[in-house]
Amino acid sequence: MSVKLKLKPEDPLDCLPGVGPRRKEEFGRLGFQKIRELLFHLPSRWEDRRAWTPLGNLPGKGSRVMVRGLVRDPRIRKRPWSPGIITARLEQDQDRLELIWFNARQIPKGLEANQELGFYGVLRDGRSGELQLVNPEIIDLSETASTALSGIVPVYRDIGKVGGRSLRRIMMASMPVIEEIEDYLDDEARRRLELPGLAATLRFLHQPPSDVEIGELEDGLCPAHRRLFFDQALLHFLAIEKIRTRRAALKAHRIRCSQADRRGLKSRLPFVLTAAQEHVLDEIFRDLEKPRPMARLLQGDVGSGKTAVAVLAMAASAASGHQAALMAPTEILAEQHARILRSFFKGTPWRVATLHGGQKAALGRVTRSAIRKAEAEIVVGTHSLIQESVEFGRLGFVVIDEQHRFGTLQRRDLVLKGETPHLLVMTATPIPRSLALSLYGDLDLSLLDQKPAGRRAIRTEIRTEAARERIFSFLKKEIGEGGRVYCVFPLIESSEHIDGPALMEQIGFFSEALPGVEIGILHGRMSSEEKDRVQARFRSGEIQLLMSTTVIEVGVDVPQATVMMIEGAHRFGLSQLHQLRGRVGRGERASWCIAMIPEELSKRARRRLEIFASTDDGFLLAEEDLKMRGPGELTGTRQWGASLPFDPEKNWELVLKARKFASELESTGRSEAVVAALADDYGKGSDEDEWKGMTG
Ligand code: ADP
Ligand code: MG
Repeated sequence: MSVKLKLKPEDPLDCLPGVGPRRKEEFGRLGFQKIRELLFHLPSRWEDRRAWTPLGNLPGKGSRVMVRGLVRDPRIRKRPWSPGIITARLEQDQDRLELIWFNARQIPKGLEANQELGFYGVLRDGRSGELQLVNPEIIDLSETASTALSGIVPVYRDIGKVGGRSLRRIMMASMPVIEEIEDYLDDEARRRLELPGLAATLRFLHQPPSDVEIGELEDGLCPAHRRLFFDQALLHFLAIEKIRTRRAALKAHRIRCSQADRRGLKSRLPFVLTAAQEHVLDEIFRDLEKPRPMARLLQGDVGSGKTAVAVLAMAASAASGHQAALMAPTEILAEQHARILRSFFKGTPWRVATLHGGQKAALGRVTRSAIRKAEAEIVVGTHSLIQESVEFGRLGFVVIDEQHRFGTLQRRDLVLKGETPHLLVMTATPIPRSLALSLYGDLDLSLLDQKPAGRRAIRTEIRTEAARERIFSFLKKEIGEGGRVYCVFPLIESSEHIDGPALMEQIGFFSEALPGVEIGILHGRMSSEEKDRVQARFRSGEIQLLMSTTVIEVGVDVPQATVMMIEGAHRFGLSQLHQLRGRVGRGERASWCIAMIPEELSKRARRRLEIFASTDDGFLLAEEDLKMRGPGELTGTRQWGASLPFDPEKNWELVLKARKFASELESTGRSEAVVAALADDYGKGSDEDEWKGMTG
């Protein structure tokens, strides 16, 4: 709590001014303990506050501006189904600009009529066509010297409840510590790799020089970005390298499953396997019989039936006397898998345990104990499985579902919970082979290239607002006949960052348009109990229409769901749309996907959606994504475990450098130390439940 004179990277956060016990705890909750860790919380964007923009000379919508003037007429408008909207007018001579804040509970401090104030925000078109400044930050002009006109200002993602200006101040206070940060790359290595040092990199991103090109900063084109990119790629390759060397020397227990036993297991499934499932299962069983650990990536389009393959392999593992664990990226998905597993193993001697963050502490303790004592042979859960407190008695088989949602390190963490477990990772986001080899260099590939027979094709239609009324009558009819509807939004609430339809603001509209229809709401800011409850009610039919964000994107299975309506469809990647569409068409009834788009959409964007509507081939759509949006879309930023976006294909030369450097470190025995340093700095993945913006 005392403010020390000379701060060190390893000092606890409450050495910083502005961090008391409460904030220290909040930071700690999110994995930030040392100042060093805070320094790797990099700005998500930057604001150009080098000059005031006159109200008479505003650029077009989408631009960020800093403006000042007299505040007139601040008022709050409350609506029954959402928090309030605050509006005010800003005047400067004869020019004016409307200010608007969404989702506000009260008028912000300092926003008073007839005050002269500054504002920083993004311009967009208001309802009547004139420009508005959306959710602007208020700039107190008496502090001008310190906060406004201070060049290029970093903007940080909130750390839990600490955000905005307080977080910025705390970050500023930690800046002097940057110079004390040790770099795992020495001068010689930096010269050879043509990369800046770690301290220079951090300094540049937190406090960009005032002559920087803001576009380059935002597009990640500066040397500092190259350095971050390199570090993350290196971390990735070190992890792969380590896993590979380790695995090559490993012995694993063999899992043998005779043809008769296989038939017995298969007969527990409520369906007959497809030829593709049989083929992949053979590949897996062949691996499991060998005395070294399997490491296999199973790619298969949405709905191709990956789960059944995993379940059978897990059963074989349990029968051989070892525990099998299945890790899924969300609680919803983990619960769904748990249900499938419980029904599969009903009446067998094997017990299923479920572990995720939404559980009560006591239940978690009991479950962990059962896992430790190997009383549960089948374990399913979320990231919770890789917590330190989770120990497995006899973990022999690891399955990771929707692999692209996890980083390489998380995968490794689960594997390390076992002696030498066999590993099966599954993904519905196919990626081209070249990329697969560098991303998953340590894995053998299997492919499910066929879907179960008898699936009704899903009809995909692209529609604009003009069709809204007809769509609502269609939904009413569909629900009347026993169908259920998903409606997915790109955003939870209106955002200054992205414009697109927001879930919270449409609830009232939907309930008015669909009287008698029971509507449920689902988004990532709800607690896991709330989420589960809503999902369960949708599954049982108590709720017929589920308004949601992409939390339902991954793997959820409700056979009665027949319509997937996607608002602001142009806001999503094709693979993501395909994943969403895969949520319907799982039952007997014909199914639809309705992609809503704005009237005035660019040709290119419309073309993308037409491709989506024209094919049900996830691999083809992934290729299109790759062509049109780059591999970031497919691999996600999470892939490399880091928070900054970057694009492996555009930075191929760096990828190769990192790969080479990784084997160098490995052969000189320095990789452990570097992994430790890097994992500490870059390993802080965001919490899956902390959905923001697009991932809403
Ligand atoms: P994904 O590959 O997307 O994870 P799932 O494993 O969730 O797909 O399977 C999708 C649906 O298909 C589930 O309802 C599952 O019960 C069903 N299914 C899987 N395999 C078969 C099969 N061979 N025949 C019929 N239905 C199947
Ligand atoms: Mg799945």
